[in-house]
Amino acid sequence: MIEEEFKKQTELLREVYQALRPLRKVRLEDLEKALEQSKLLFIEGLKKPAFRFRREFRGFPAGTVIGPGLLMPGFPSIPRVFVLKTGIPRYISGPFYAEEKIEGYNVRLANVFGEIKAFTRRGYVCPFATDRWPDFLPRLSEFFEKYPRYVICCEVAGPENPFVSEWPPYIKEDVAFFVFDIFDLERQKFLAPEEKYALLREYEFRTPEISGPYSPQEIDPLKGLILRYEEEGREGVVLKPVSFKDGRVIKYVTSSSNVSDLRVAFPYIGELDASYIVHRLVRMTITRWELDQPFDENFYQALGEAFFGEMKELLDKVAQGEPVEEVFKVRLRRKESLEALMAHFRTAQVRIEIRREEWKDEYLHVEFAKIYPKATSFWAGKLQGLAQID
Ligand code: ATP
Repeated sequence: MIEEEFKKQTELLREVYQALRPLRKVRLEDLEKALEQSKLLFIEGLKKPAFRFRREFRGFPAGTVIGPGLLMPGFPSIPRVFVLKTGIPRYISGPFYAEEKIEGYNVRLANVFGEIKAFTRRGYVCPFATDRWPDFLPRLSEFFEKYPRYVICCEVAGPENPFVSEWPPYIKEDVAFFVFDIFDLERQKFLAPEEKYALLREYEFRTPEISGPYSPQEIDPLKGLILRYEEEGREGVVLKPVSFKDGRVIKYVTSSSNVSDLRVAFPYIGELDASYIVHRLVRMTITRWELDQPFDENFYQALGEAFFGEMKELLDKVAQGEPVEEVFKVRLRRKESLEALMAHFRTAQVRIEIRREEWKDEYLHVEFAKIYPKATSFWAGKLQGLAQID
């Protein structure tokens, strides 16, 4: 960072420090050092100074946003269980709800210094969700007028989102916002499920499908739900105790969602940790075993197809010198949002090429490709004859 910019940000950080009591558990010098080492990053474009933690830092989770009077923690990681019968009673001792786990990306919507902004898991302002929330949560401003210190946590999901290439099968175009949690900034905690469901109903916010309550000792009905989700191509469930006293939130996904992750990830494996594959193979093996899902020709066929179905085409392209890329589509309400989205990708060091831009029905429809340099050299190096010690 250039010296002058750093000086300015340090001053702004001092301002935030003065105006946010809970920050005092850390010394100002340590925060300044974190800023210098880019563990703490300035957030551009808000009405007052704000910063985000890149990784977990002294008890502040990754993606935590701080500003004058604002401490919005990063959305917590949810532990995964592999087996329902033993996993559920280990973590949950009373009745619990099963919320559908929606495949998309996580944003926290908050009223920040008088403006409604969407923040990604890592604490960036998300230009896409900030542009589109009025289409899906039309009563959000009204909600924040009454509850200015609540944060709406939701999954943005559908075929036209800028970040993930899997989505719920029943969303056929564009995206939807599925609200799954409300966080109270005042008390620094999530609302319990029933209080949250009542508010979400009142404000007509779309939620993931909610089932239950179930009992940890009687999980056959939950197994039935998961088998239905498997059939319907839905991702899985997030289990939430009726009372937080009775345990913690855990997640569980279907076998078929692991298969579809593999289809999406294998061509880009050079960008990911190779353990990504192993984790999914392990999960689906245990899931199928517990749920008595057959290990038969159909399953082997589906798994093989997921891995290799599109690989010949991909290798043909790489062999001709083309990069590995993935095409995304989005619709936006404002041209500035596209500029902000492109700036976001630049900051996140993601290479983008815009392929199409067209105003239609009051939306700017954009098609862009993400170019994956690591995946490209992963495959291209091998095709060019490079040897490797493995
Ligand atoms: P981690 O949670 O460990 O960081 P991850 O980012 O890979 O892992 P997932 O395995 O996809 O996340 O699962 C957690 C995410 O699932 C949440 O961050 C949230 O965005 C999403 N999600 C979808 N539906 C729900 C729901 N009903 N309740 C809570 N989270 C949900």
